[in-house]
This record gives sequence, structure tokens and C-alpha cells, in this order.
Amino acid sequence: MTLQDFISQQREVFASAHSLSKALSEQASAWRGGVPMHWMRDWASPFPIFVKSASGATLTDVDGVTYDDFCLGDTPSMFGHARAELTDAIADQAGRGVGYMLPMPLTNVVGDLLRERFAMDQWQVATTASDANRAVIRWARAITGRDRILVFDGCYHGMVEDCFVALYDGVPSNKAGLIGQVHDQTRTTTVVPFNDLPALEAALATGDIAAVLAEPVMTNCGMIRPDAGYLEALRDLCTRRGALLVMDETHTLSSAPGGYCIANGLKPDMFVVGKAIAGGIPAAVWGVTSEVAARMDEAQARIGPGQSGIGTTLSGNALVMRAIHTVLTQIATQPAYDRMLSGAEYLVAGLDRVTADLPWCTVHVGARVELVFAPERPRNAQDMRRFLDHDLLDAFHLFLINRGVLIAPFHNMMLISPQTQTQAIDRLVDAVDAFGHHYREFS
Ligand code: PMP
Repeated sequence: MTLQDFISQQREVFASAHSLSKALSEQASAWRGGVPMHWMRDWASPFPIFVKSASGATLTDVDGVTYDDFCLGDTPSMFGHARAELTDAIADQAGRGVGYMLPMPLTNVVGDLLRERFAMDQWQVATTASDANRAVIRWARAITGRDRILVFDGCYHGMVEDCFVALYDGVPSNKAGLIGQVHDQTRTTTVVPFNDLPALEAALATGDIAAVLAEPVMTNCGMIRPDAGYLEALRDLCTRRGALLVMDETHTLSSAPGGYCIANGLKPDMFVVGKAIAGGIPAAVWGVTSEVAARMDEAQARIGPGQSGIGTTLSGNALVMRAIHTVLTQIATQPAYDRMLSGAEYLVAGLDRVTADLPWCTVHVGARVELVFAPERPRNAQDMRRFLDHDLLDAFHLFLINRGVLIAPFHNMMLISPQTQTQAIDRLVDAVDAFGHHYREFS
């Protein structure tokens, strides 16, 4: 059987088991593309799965199919769906009002918790990690007086125009997906390959970079780990060249309760985390060191009175504060991480076992595991693109869906929540093993 025949066959299998989702998708013409947000179309299924409910690490659709959920909303639900602690807190807060545009006593508790956990001195809340990244970029420019930021080829930091640049055959350009963009982002964004120290040194040597915005492990083009010593060299270079180091730990919060930087002794100047920080209630937080905070005060003083900055009225609302408080005190605990990390180790061992004779490898950062369809771990986005095979990804994802397993649609990311059962991991590994047998036929 060819790969294309396999995909067609899997589509039929899917369609025959999902008649209610199919009917609902046919009735969804009011939504552009049939969905309220275009990424909901990016799954490998011929039409979206319509969800009935989700709980813990499982999700049930309207056709009564239950899935082991390793996507977990692509991270917002990393600690499990419908956690009772969170549901109770949200319901209680809803009864007390959600949007005051004022702080409450709990706000101070949350600030102290953030400071303690992530070792940043001052904090602000945004509504998404995208918003938080936009905020830190603006502040970095304001306090350094420099226009340019630096990002890594293959990065994704949300709906942040400044980061939508990539290297096409080594040439920086706006990313194709940046619809409606009138500015050439490369005029104010430098993009270099990850793990390429000379390129980074050269870019920072220009002295015009306000900030380097990075994930400590790249998680949005497959998964790319830093070479030994690379992040320490990045830290050192930023300090020497007067650029601020911003770490976006929206995904690498999967590493440890304080994220990857804390676990690995890396000290950024600014820090962002979103998605799971409020258990999936839209929120993100960003923190800065006391040195950066002092420079922000100076920049603010230059703006003059009557202007506190730009933001959105929903940010930091009471519901979000309750949700963050619940996550930090009851959900994202050390025992929860112990379960997540040991589950991920177990998954990696299983994947390595069943893919030992296949040209694939696994990479993981804490509870976040990636099966990469490349014989060796890629060191940069260019390596990753060389092995990118959309049809193979489609076939794999659809096959998993038909076996009752969801992984993140864009690549092969599998997230272990504290509620993921060992048997679910076994089912995932069995499904990968079975796919491997098909792969040997059509490769
Ligand atoms: N930072 C990183 C590293 C991300 O992966 C994402 C989204 N995948 C974001 C920021 C943006 O998050 P959101 O879509 O919630 O704004």
C-alpha cells in the first residue's frame, strides 16, 4: 500500500466512526472554515472532532469515542482537563464577579507566589502568551533605546508580528503565514539559527539588539534542544552586548515547577509563561528582574504622567487571579511534576524501544515528548525542515486518532499530565509501534 492509499483508507475509517462530528461540521457554515479558530482545522482528520467533554487526560467526542489526550490543548490543559480544584475556584469567583479592573487581596498572594517560584522580582499579567511577549518586546525596546530584537529560526512565540521571520535558504524574510503584513519585519528583527554560536555572536556584536527572545528548548518546529553550554553562552553574550535575555517558558513549563531556567540555573532578564499557568483560563504572566524593573521605572518617567502604557482591560481579572492561584498552590505541585516527569521517561523508553530500527528519534523536555521523523536529533530549524514530510505526519496523526490517541496536530508532540495513566502511555506506544509496521511497507 502506498502512503496516499493508507491516508485515504484512514480517512474512511475516521469518517465511518464520526457521523455526528461530520453532521455538525456540515452545519458549521457560520464559522469560517467551519471552526471558530483556524487552528482547529489543522488536525489530520477530514473534518474536526466535535468534543462532548474532557476530564483528566481523556477527551470524549460527540460520537462517543474516548481518546487518550496527549495534546492537552497544545499545553493549556497540561495539568489535566476539568480539574476539580480549578472548577470550584472558578465557579466560586464567577459568583463574586470577574472583571473589576481592580486588584483584590488574593492578587498580592499571587504576586508573591510568582516571585518565589520563578525568581523574577516584578510581574504583570497579560491575557495570552502572545500578549505577554508583545509587552516584553515593547519594554525591552523602551528601556534599551534599541529597535531590533533577535529570535531563532523556527521559533514561535504566538501572535507576535515581530517574531514572524524565518531563514529561507539562509535569507531572512517575513514568514509566509504573516497575512496582511505591510512592514518588512527583518528591518527590526534579526533571525539566526539555533545552536549556531558564531552567528549569534556576530548578530549581537552589532550592538543594536534590544532583546533576544527565546525558548530554552525550541518546541515549535519539532523539538530542538540546546547544545551543551549554548544557553550559558547566550546569557553571557547578551550581558556583554547589552541585550536583554527574554525566556518564553510557555511550553517549557513542562520541565519543572519553576520551568526550565530555574531547573537549569539560567538567569534571564525577563520571563514569560502562559497557557497552563491559569489551567487553560486565558492568561499569561511576565516577570522582570529588579534591574530591569528599575530601568522600566526610568523609561516610564520619561513618558510622563497620565500614560501608564498599553494593555487590555481583561488582563489580570479576578477570575484569572483565582485560576493562577489555584494552579500554583494546588495543581502545579512538585508531586504533580514527579508524576509528569516519570510518565514522560516511561513514554520515551517505550518510543525508543519500538522505533529502534526506524529512522526516527525522540527528544523531550520534562513532560513534553517529541517523536521526530529524522534519524538524528535536529540542531536547528533547517535540519528539521529537511526531514519534514507533511503526508507522513498526516498519516501518523490520523492513524493515532483512529486508535483513540490525540497528539498535538502540528508535529509529534505528546504531553504527559499528572493525570495520564500508565495504560494510556502503553496504548500510545503500541499505536506508534503499529504505525511503524505500516511505515516499513510504504517507505
Ligand atoms: N510562546 C510559545 C513558546 C508558544 O508555543 C505559544 C503558542 N503555541 C505562545 C507563546 C503563544 O501562546 P498563545 O497562543 O496562548 O498566545
